[in-house]
Amino acid sequence: MEFIDLKAQQNQLLEDGATLREDINRRIKKVLDHGRYIMGPEVNEIELKLAKYVGVKHCIGVSSGTDALLVALMALGIKPGDEVITTPFSFFATVETILLLGAKPVFVDIENLTFNLDPKKIEIAISRKTKAIIPVSLYGQPANFKEINLIAKKYDIPVIEDGAQSFGSKHNKKRSCGLSTIGVTSFFPSKPLGCYGDGGACFTNNDFLANSMRQIALHGQEKRYEHLRIGLNGRLDTIQAAVLLAKLNIFEREVHLRQEIGDKYTQKLNKKGFQKTPSLDPQNTSVYAQYTVQVESREEVIKFLTNKSIPTSIHYPKLLPDQDALCAKKSGFIKNFFHKKIYKSHVIPNARNLVSKVLSLPMHPMLSDKDQDLVVETLINANKSVNKLP
Ligand SMILES: *Cc1c(COP(=O)(O)O)cnc(C)c1O
Repeated sequence: MEFIDLKAQQNQLLEDGATLREDINRRIKKVLDHGRYIMGPEVNEIELKLAKYVGVKHCIGVSSGTDALLVALMALGIKPGDEVITTPFSFFATVETILLLGAKPVFVDIENLTFNLDPKKIEIAISRKTKAIIPVSLYGQPANFKEINLIAKKYDIPVIEDGAQSFGSKHNKKRSCGLSTIGVTSFFPSKPLGCYGDGGACFTNNDFLANSMRQIALHGQEKRYEHLRIGLNGRLDTIQAAVLLAKLNIFEREVHLRQEIGDKYTQKLNKKGFQKTPSLDPQNTSVYAQYTVQVESREEVIKFLTNKSIPTSIHYPKLLPDQDALCAKKSGFIKNFFHKKIYKSHVIPNARNLVSKVLSLPMHPMLSDKDQDLVVETLINANKSVNKLP
């Protein structure tokens, strides 16, 4: 059993009877034929299609989800001394990009049920230095943007959605990445919409920010060799755009399958008395980038599952503020602009509690009923066996 099965995805049939793999081969060959590996026509084509899919005016293809965050923060003019409110429970890139620009991350606790930033705890963390809020739509379900946007509007603070795990999901019928000032996502191979390398995108309805982000991703150029600002080499490759064009054709089908399989996991586990399953906010749909449950004695449960050849993963075993790179004592890099009091003033008990319990189960659109039943049964048995331990 695979944790995420990208091989099975390649066997999916398209409307014209070809497999996804055949279509990808065809599209890559086309790129090799025209030879425009950088900023080829496929890049513009996928940007237009993704903007339409998300329901926003602009999509800028970039080189990764991490660069998408960096480009978005740079477009908002985030600079040393600024504060950016975010979650302590995410992939490292969320905080890394804030720190790269010399800004200070201010960690606000997550909700117990959704694992996403708790809107009720944001306001007390806002200061005159707060220049952005980055909610992460973790595991595939959007954060509570309805509430977060209200607070952001009151203080006139832009909101960047880190939608690296939630691309395709909805919040009050609107697509993830189109829910706030800027939405960013990742096309890392194992993300809900993945390419075959690194890739990402920034989304916005704001013309000015779109123009800025486009320039920043192209070395700050307006046209060739005219550099208006400091940017980076942040482009989406033509070949990755070609892969995404092929995969986008089956993506909506996969989004539905993901929801079905995620819902089935929850029903099956609950029916067998296992209640620590993911909670979906009624405002949301989820693409279940991860299907993540909570267990006690996690190491024992993992051992039990591994013995039965069931792969698992932990997203994430350590909170962002606990990473060595963020500890003033251990990292000279951070010392200059990092204030310990930020951690002290904002307690994060929910994140602290959940980080030791989360466990992600195999999850992808091709997961069979048989495999899913085996995972469910084995997890139930693992729980029983572990609880019997002295
Ligand atoms: C994967 C991920 C990123 C980084 O994306 P890359 O394309 O790997 O750079 C950022 N944030 C979150 C929440 C992610 O899951």
